[in-house]
Amino acid sequence: MPQYKKPMSNEEFNLNFAQIKPLMSDTEAYYESSRCLYCYDAPCITACPTGIDIPLFIRQINSKNEQGAAKTIYDSNIFGYACGKVCPTEVLCEGACVYNHSDVKPIEIGRLQSYATKKSIDSGKKHFNFKAPIGKKVAIIGAGPAGISCGAELSLHGVSVDIFEAREKPSGLTVYGVAPYKITNEEVLSEMEYLEAQYGFKIHYNKFINTRSEIEELQNAYDAIFLGIGLWRSSELGIPGEELDQVTGAVEFIEDLRMQKHQTQIGGKVIVLGGGNTAMDAASESCRMGAADVVIAYRRSHEEMGAYAFEYELAKAAGIRSLFNVMPVEIIGSTSVSAVRFVRTKVEDGKVTVIDGTEFTEPCDWVIKATGQSRQEDLLDMIGIGRSKSGNILVDGEYRTSHHKYFAAGDAVSGGQEVVNAVAEGKKAAKAILKNI
Ligand SMILES: Cc1cc2nc3c(=O)[nH]c(=O)nc-3n(C[C@H](O)[C@H](O)[C@H](O)COP(=O)(O)OP(=O)(O)OC[C@H]3O[C@@H](n4cnc5c(N)ncnc54)[C@H](O)[C@@H]3O)c2cc1C
Ligand code: SF4
Repeated sequence: MPQYKKPMSNEEFNLNFAQIKPLMSDTEAYYESSRCLYCYDAPCITACPTGIDIPLFIRQINSKNEQGAAKTIYDSNIFGYACGKVCPTEVLCEGACVYNHSDVKPIEIGRLQSYATKKSIDSGKKHFNFKAPIGKKVAIIGAGPAGISCGAELSLHGVSVDIFEAREKPSGLTVYGVAPYKITNEEVLSEMEYLEAQYGFKIHYNKFINTRSEIEELQNAYDAIFLGIGLWRSSELGIPGEELDQVTGAVEFIEDLRMQKHQTQIGGKVIVLGGGNTAMDAASESCRMGAADVVIAYRRSHEEMGAYAFEYELAKAAGIRSLFNVMPVEIIGSTSVSAVRFVRTKVEDGKVTVIDGTEFTEPCDWVIKATGQSRQEDLLDMIGIGRSKSGNILVDGEYRTSHHKYFAAGDAVSGGQEVVNAVAEGKKAAKAILKNI
């Protein structure tokens, strides 16, 4: 059962959502950096999608050259601070650290990374020399990790960059989606301000690109267009009762939580439908918002869940319960939800099948749907962008879409990975754009 009291103020919210990777002090960073073995062919570098030279930046921290360490990090990953806090380091750099082989705690690479980059953010230190303007213009749709990474790399190489963002804040899901106990809004936005001041790209906020005339305008005014639009709203389940009050999508609930904090509406008994990382986040967050009972309901077994084991453990520690091998068939209620009707399932030849006569009803006050995200099909159809069967944008080895003027990367192409993957792909796409404009 969740142990959290409903937060009634921002202070109480911050306590319930205390940072799981808090910033290191100077002494902690010095001690931790001195444990690194500076491995030759360091496996931690290979495990990082952006290929940060981890032993180098750790050595720089240890020799009190924090600004040098920050430059090493930003050279490879311009979301250096955010990634230090939000990356699943357990399965990336820290999971690859050689200390794991001797049953010794791996180096806390993520926290060291945030420690060093915070020094540059706080001092506004500029690390890079920009090439002279090359007379080319690129429009970027979406100021998420992919869009900003692409824009920063292009700016470094003398391209004039305009980023068009539907929302009023930059960084995409980093500020609107990631769990608040991983990174605060203030932390995300101070890194974004630092980047915008350093790289000089212009972000046009509240600019949702979705009409034919807007698209034509961009196509006429720019040499290339990069789509960093990510995924879209939470997917529908396609069962009766989804329209009831207090039935919401996980992405919408988490966006509300990040913006409204303690004022977010949730409580009583919450059922979260899904078995991925987003479901774990939504469940954990519901507990921390003071819900009395939070149940994750997943149509396959525990072993088949898409969520990382450590995310499931985090949700369990927050007080969730789980129902495995169950599938929702109806959401019940008059105006608001009052229960979910489930049927039990089994998996045969990899496929989920229902077991007849096993229906049961689980009462609840809220339902959070966390079974995936939809795509912006209308926009992509309007431009004429080819997609895979699952709706992801198809690109060639140069990140070019089926429309010669459009390039794409990030979640819109991968179908949903991590911030660090979107940053890595956005930068690679920028290099491809530079070759092609
Ligand atoms: C609930 C949740 C929790 C997550 N937690 C983590 C985590 O802890 N750690 C981690 O590393 N990753 C996490 N991720 C994944 C990570 O957030 C994404 O992989 C990453 O943000 C993808 O970056 P992107 O730039 O491709 O897309 P996004 O971050 O989605 O950014 C796309 C941007 O484009 C804008 N946009 C879209 N369409 C238009 C348009 N037509 N016109 C103008 N602007 C537009 C959007 O407003 C948005 O700002 C999480 C994802 C979710 C859903
Ligand atoms: S693997 Fe671990 S010990 Fe080796 S360089 Fe990387 S962080 Fe240091």
